[in-house]
Amino acid sequence: MTALLEVEDLHVEFRTRDGVARVLNGVGYHVDAGETLAVLGESGSGKSVTAQTVMGILDTPPAYVMRGAVRFHGEDLLSATAERRREVRGEGIAMIFQDALSALNPVFTVGFQIEEQLRLRRGMSRSEARKRAVELLDLVRIPHARQRVREYPHQFSGGMRQRAMIAMSLALDPEVLIADEPTTALDVTVQAQIMDLLAEIQRERHMGLVLITHDLGVVAEVADRIVVMYAGRIVEQADAVSLFRSPGHPYTEALMKSLPRLDAKGTTLDTIKGLPPSLLRIPPGCPFHPRCPRAEAVCSVDVPPQERLGFGRTSACHFAEEVLNG
Ligand code: SF4
Ligand code: MG
Repeated sequence: MTALLEVEDLHVEFRTRDGVARVLNGVGYHVDAGETLAVLGESGSGKSVTAQTVMGILDTPPAYVMRGAVRFHGEDLLSATAERRREVRGEGIAMIFQDALSALNPVFTVGFQIEEQLRLRRGMSRSEARKRAVELLDLVRIPHARQRVREYPHQFSGGMRQRAMIAMSLALDPEVLIADEPTTALDVTVQAQIMDLLAEIQRERHMGLVLITHDLGVVAEVADRIVVMYAGRIVEQADAVSLFRSPGHPYTEALMKSLPRLDAKGTTLDTIKGLPPSLLRIPPGCPFHPRCPRAEAVCSVDVPPQERLGFGRTSACHFAEEVLNG
């Protein structure tokens, strides 16, 4: 069966003055209609770069897509024309960003920014577009939508701005929504509300939802499947229930240990020693080996292959079976 959205063996490099940064080294994942995929990793793991490649907004130097495919309903977007890519953007696949304030244009009203898309891409009249914009603000539960549609982004609170951005991303009825750290800038209560809203919209519209996050706790309740990224690779993928029950990769284990406990709300207990590697100098063998509590001699020499662990699970660890079994 053809996946709704499929990323395959993506290799991306950034050619910088300091050398070539290998930011994606064979990333692949897929999402189907009605499914929520969480893409988890620390900053610099390649989560956002993958999403930007999918959206076709990462096609200028110093970024180079070296290899791979991005398929939407089986059609490779990387080899599609610029016009076709523009069509897919917004209507096929839409994206929302962490920082709504900089993603929204400060000089236009929130309503105008939604209506503009509807007029240009759907050929709606001004009044039709206004009516639809109000409906969309209602849908994302912005109170007094009829008034607020006339307001500017700075007149919205952080949470309301994020809702407005979700409304904008839904204007063209996308089949896939990619949300890049959509709640990171918000406080914990508002985070939960936005996550619930996204989950509800995803279910109602039977969309594919790709949730990018560095915080496993945020996606725990809404993700169907989880892929874990490290140094531009996917180190583990699994359905959410099994991954939480028993992680199959030491990095996932470490992330789970660093989850804040309920009695320490909002704090992150960082138990992973060291920092992610520079992508200019990815360590040989397993890129996680300098930080891995389970590392053995082989780990600094041989790149671990993707081990299949059954039930669609994979782990890129030489000791995947042992990790999985405790
Ligand atoms: Fe750790 Fe080795 Fe597994 Fe890498 S391959 S995660 S270093 S045990
Ligand atoms: Mg990012």
